[in-house]
Amino acid sequence: MIVVLKPQATEKQIQHILEKTKNLGLKAHVSRGVERTIIGLIGPEDVLRVTPLEVFPGVEEVMPVLAPYRLVSREFKKESSRIAIRKDLRIGDRKVVLMAGPCAVENRKTLLAIAAKIKKAGASVLRGGAFKPRTSPYDFQGLGEEGLKYLKEASEKYGIATVSEVVDPRDIPLMVKYVDVLQVGARNMQNFTLLRELGKTKKPVMLKRGISATIKEWLMSAEYILSEGNFDVILCERGIRTFETQTRNTLDINAVAVVKELSHLPIVVDPSHATGRRSLVASASRAAVAAGADGLIVEVHDHPEEAMSDGVQSLIPQGFSSLVRELKKVALAIGRDL
Ligand code: PEP
Ligand code: MN
Repeated sequence: MIVVLKPQATEKQIQHILEKTKNLGLKAHVSRGVERTIIGLIGPEDVLRVTPLEVFPGVEEVMPVLAPYRLVSREFKKESSRIAIRKDLRIGDRKVVLMAGPCAVENRKTLLAIAAKIKKAGASVLRGGAFKPRTSPYDFQGLGEEGLKYLKEASEKYGIATVSEVVDPRDIPLMVKYVDVLQVGARNMQNFTLLRELGKTKKPVMLKRGISATIKEWLMSAEYILSEGNFDVILCERGIRTFETQTRNTLDINAVAVVKELSHLPIVVDPSHATGRRSLVASASRAAVAAGADGLIVEVHDHPEEAMSDGVQSLIPQGFSSLVRELKKVALAIGRDL
């Protein structure tokens, strides 16, 4: 922690800060310049959360040296994490993992039909919401446990892993019985009760970035899960809200590289919610793979015009197949497989 003092800070004020920080168990190194004095502090910085130095007379600025997130940071773990979704499937490796499927599980027949097609196209994870966090309480809220059963059936029938969103901590015990990855949706990124409970499970968690969340806030949310003991966290960039209205959200492609610098956790990109339009999904997907994403999660529906949610941004299975062919070339060009 570096404390920059005001140019007019008095000796009495400096001594007051030194005395206080010593009592807090911090070691201080004072550097007196011509213009101003700087104090470097070493020790358990956490104590400064309760006693913020900013409020002390004479202090201009306090700069933390370490990131506020620890366990998720590259400082904590240098090599990139590989997370086992299933025994034979890992994310964070050379292979870019493709997740695809409908926004919501609507009925058994549709889900099984889509699962067969996306598996054939090259996806290894089937997505589908059984609990849908809809903006309107009058919209389709998902099939609940019935939907989870269809996901499990599709998973066994086609040998494909599954990911589905959990919106309520009370549903966790139910969901872990049926799915391989528990998704936290953008609207719940800062539902700290949910995050803590997910930290106590042994299932991989895919944490989507909040609608208006900074990367730091997102990583702090991931820290909640790791701090409870679950290190199997996959981050998901799904676009953020900006002033732009042409697209549903703005895909923050920078986030892929930024997360790779700051954290060891794998990151996937959701080009469907990031763009909100079928015609834009392919370019966003290519950009994501080129930027170094470890996976993609794409909405696919075989009859988007009949979809109960997000039909406008869903690819049809043939569209998904041709996208996969294009993405193979992009992956190869940057030294990865797909
Ligand atoms: C979804 O994946 O269907 C979804 C609701 O996404 P998000 O939480 O990113 O809006
Ligand atoms: Mn959706």
